[in-house]
Amino acid sequence: MTTLSFHNSLTHRVQEFKPIADDHIGLYTCGPTVYNFAHIGNFRCYAFEDILKRTLRFCGYNVKHVMNLTDVDDKTIRGSQAAKIPLNDFTQKYKDAFFNDIKTLRIIPADVYPAATAHIPEMLEIIKALFDKGIAYQAEDKSVYFSIAKWPRYGQLVHIDHDQMKAGARVSMDEYAKESVADFALWKAYDEADGDVAWDSPWGKGRPGWHLECSAMSSKYLGKTFDIHCGGIDNMFPHHEDEIAQSEAANGVKFVNYWLHCAHLMVDGQKMSKSLGNFYTLRDILEKGYTGREIRWVLIGTHYRQSLNFSFKALDDARASLQRLDALRSRLLENAAVADDKQDAQVDEILKNAIDAFTAGLADDLNISAALAAMFDLLRELNKLMDEKRCLGINAKNALETIKKIDSVLAVFEPDQDDSVPPEIQKMADDRQAARKAKDFATADALRKQLDELGWVIEDTPKGPRVKRK
Ligand SMILES: [Zn+2]
Repeated sequence: MTTLSFHNSLTHRVQEFKPIADDHIGLYTCGPTVYNFAHIGNFRCYAFEDILKRTLRFCGYNVKHVMNLTDVDDKTIRGSQAAKIPLNDFTQKYKDAFFNDIKTLRIIPADVYPAATAHIPEMLEIIKALFDKGIAYQAEDKSVYFSIAKWPRYGQLVHIDHDQMKAGARVSMDEYAKESVADFALWKAYDEADGDVAWDSPWGKGRPGWHLECSAMSSKYLGKTFDIHCGGIDNMFPHHEDEIAQSEAANGVKFVNYWLHCAHLMVDGQKMSKSLGNFYTLRDILEKGYTGREIRWVLIGTHYRQSLNFSFKALDDARASLQRLDALRSRLLENAAVADDKQDAQVDEILKNAIDAFTAGLADDLNISAALAAMFDLLRELNKLMDEKRCLGINAKNALETIKKIDSVLAVFEPDQDDSVPPEIQKMADDRQAARKAKDFATADALRKQLDELGWVIEDTPKGPRVKRK
């Protein structure tokens, strides 16, 4: 099996990846908070996790992937109240939107999507274990907190100066800055502002803190110690730090062996924000006429630990690159139809080298630039061979197989569904061809013009005319 290396946020260095089981990987990735449509910064992270998962599969591993859906927290409760609908109805809409969006971006779904509201007993188990060990305590406000003073190992991911910490300081919000590191809420006592969102617990009515769900649901589906945990760099503190503390303190074993974090997405070199008017959901970009494939290409094209600069120029460039891919693929398909069953040793070597270079790139901490360079080198070589009327029949078929392997990771070669030709357009193209055969050039020309106005062109190929988008 290929040896992979990843940058582990726990050790701050690139390390050889050694899974717990020989061929089976447990992967947990923090999922969306379903109170709104996810934005492209979120999808940058999910696309990186998709490349990671596809790389592991490409290298022969089975992956069990768990991604949580945060359907109860400060934001979802506020959103459902503003919309005046029950919490579950409110979050369902955004869960559905999320699944549509990842499909558009060709992201392979997780094996399990546990929802926080369906795992309250598991979360209470963890609190109980922490209570029994004297690490959790109930404060005057009736909420239950994790005592950082009782857990000196707190701060494994980000450096925490324990001497600077104010003893007994508490934070009940789900998100806070590193400067305000404090005992964090495991169970939030019921507050009237929460309306009817509450569960019973040995510590009174309330709801879980956000961090607890990932500890509870990851260990339920992947075991108390598992291989890889991912998320955006924003989640490193406090979310992941708190997950580690809760899990390791409650279970007495190491939580996760490898932590991989994805860097930020910028828009035109600036932080994406609603106030700057550069905040985009996936829908916003699709509405501007870009396809899921083009957006995916931009999201996966920058190494996951570098900040990605998203722009419409980058999407236009993506369109041009993908057209090159499409052109090569059609050319290979035509060549594959030619009868030739003599394997060309040079073609074989080019294909083997391409796979080796592509694999080596990914194995080196998912070095996407090296992997894409290997793919473009292959396209260049194949085009050259085809110019020389080589790479026919079996050789073109083998080349297509190699591309298919590469595409099992990239998922960009198959055209978007909306690239397919609608039947009425195909009929016009067929009618034009029939008119030409009947030497009715006036009709044929009129149909070609009509197609042109509708945004379609007819290309003459050795296999006959083919209609495609301009
Ligand atoms: Zn999480």
